[in-house]
Amino acid sequence: MDDNTATAPGDSRQPSAQDLDVLSRQLGRPVRDVVEIPARCVCGNPLVAATSPRLSNGTPFPTTFYLTHPVITSAVSRLEAAGLMNDMNDRLAADESLAAFYRAAHEAYLAARAEIGARSGIGAVPEIDGVSAGGMPTRVKCLHVLVGHSLAAGPGVNPLGDEAIAAISEWWTAERCYCEGAWDTAGEAPSRDLSRHGPQGLPDIVGRPAPVRKSTTDKAADSKTDATTEAGA
Ligand SMILES: [Zn+2]
Repeated sequence: MDDNTATAPGDSRQPSAQDLDVLSRQLGRPVRDVVEIPARCVCGNPLVAATSPRLSNGTPFPTTFYLTHPVITSAVSRLEAAGLMNDMNDRLAADESLAAFYRAAHEAYLAARAEIGARSGIGAVPEIDGVSAGGMPTRVKCLHVLVGHSLAAGPGVNPLGDEAIAAISEWWTAERCYCEGAWDTAGEAPSRDLSRHGPQGLPDIVGRPAPVRKSTTDKAADSKTDATTEAGA
């Protein structure tokens, strides 16, 4: 079976059993603590998963929007490999209006996370107040995070996420479905039993641990994560 396109358009934020199955196949590992699907392919499949700001094991989790579609994640990895983040960081340092727009994107990220926390019944997570993701509000450290935010929020909210989406138009655009053949549809979806567990029980969807409770070993783990692509981490 090689037809990955969704059978019915999904326009709900609420993740269905089908959505969770697709997410696990897209990532090649089980997903946990996904509370919403904030962006979908034109066919209905998830493009981005929203993770609860507090994981079911109680850990505060600031990275709300996680890009899951393999076609987009690999295209964004190409931009990272080509050095686009260095260019963006140079421009953030030199262009005050871009820097202000990017700080506003950080605030929008925090507001969206608070709304998701409220809708999902998680409520406030004070441990991560003011902490967003991807290097915001002053740096670009992960383009996948920015693209996930832009896809979730729509255009005009995160200028650098929007720019990255425009830069991958050779490989992915919002108007078309790129799902067919993009992940394995045969057999069982990756399950808890078949997958390695992350450190400290963090779900495998997590690209890096929350930046709270830093210790020397956490910092070492962070450097390691930084050296790999978020898509494959
Ligand atoms: Zn699709």
